[in-house]
Amino acid sequence: MIRVVVSGAAGRMGETVCEAVDDADDLELAGRADPALDAPLSDLLDGADVVVDFTTPEAAPANVRACLDAGTHAVVGTTGFDLDDLRAAAEDARRDGGTANVLVAPNFAIGAVLMMRFAAEAAQHMPECEIIELHHDRKLDAPSGTAKRTADLVREAGGNVHDPIHSVRLPGLVAHQEVLLGGQAQTLSIRHDSLDRTSFMPGVLLAARRVGELEQPFTVGLEAIL
Ligand code: NAP
Repeated sequence: MIRVVVSGAAGRMGETVCEAVDDADDLELAGRADPALDAPLSDLLDGADVVVDFTTPEAAPANVRACLDAGTHAVVGTTGFDLDDLRAAAEDARRDGGTANVLVAPNFAIGAVLMMRFAAEAAQHMPECEIIELHHDRKLDAPSGTAKRTADLVREAGGNVHDPIHSVRLPGLVAHQEVLLGGQAQTLSIRHDSLDRTSFMPGVLLAARRVGELEQPFTVGLEAIL
């Protein structure tokens, strides 16, 4: 049994993750950390093999550092904060003898991972690219982590991602993105829609199972374990 503590457990994603972990035969829901539950993560780390963090851009970096200090693996879905500092912290911890791995994924939905891969492949042939991301109106960050990751992958493949990335925020939406590529007398649209938050759960559970097997202390992208 892998013991999983969910950080941000009272949030929209956190509640869905708690249900998914509870339903998985090989995972144990070992704790729910959230200010709304009066349960700080620091009190729960002792009983955790893996922490799954879906909190806020302000809270997530400190939560991951606490995991590194405790030697607990971290799966991070929270978006909207700089990853470079955290990567350095994870690498420092490993040099100091730490054993914890961190896996950060801006999107745990398999269809979104495929959208990013297809966009990077298409950009090799149709480099001019616009990204439109659409989310529910309570999302804190813009552009989304998925859009920023897509832009990085398209640029690495030789594409020219136009500024700005377009962010739409409306009630009724969950998480959606369209990548538009334009060439001579033609366009190509690659679109992904998460219709509810369960779309992320197979990826989150896979990450909780596999994060401990990663060779590097810090990894970005679900594709690393697919
Ligand atoms: P949410 O409903 O606002 O939930 C966040 C929860 O974290 C809230 O209950 C919040 O409590 C709690 N929290 C704040 N500080 C904390 C701390 N120090 N320790 C533990 N919990 C803390 O947000 P959400 O819609 O679930 O989204 C959470 C994050 O996941 C966002 O960054 C979002 O962009 C991201 N996301 C990622 C994916 C993916 O596939 N990677 C998919 C969807 C969403 P308070 O309300 O009291 O502050």
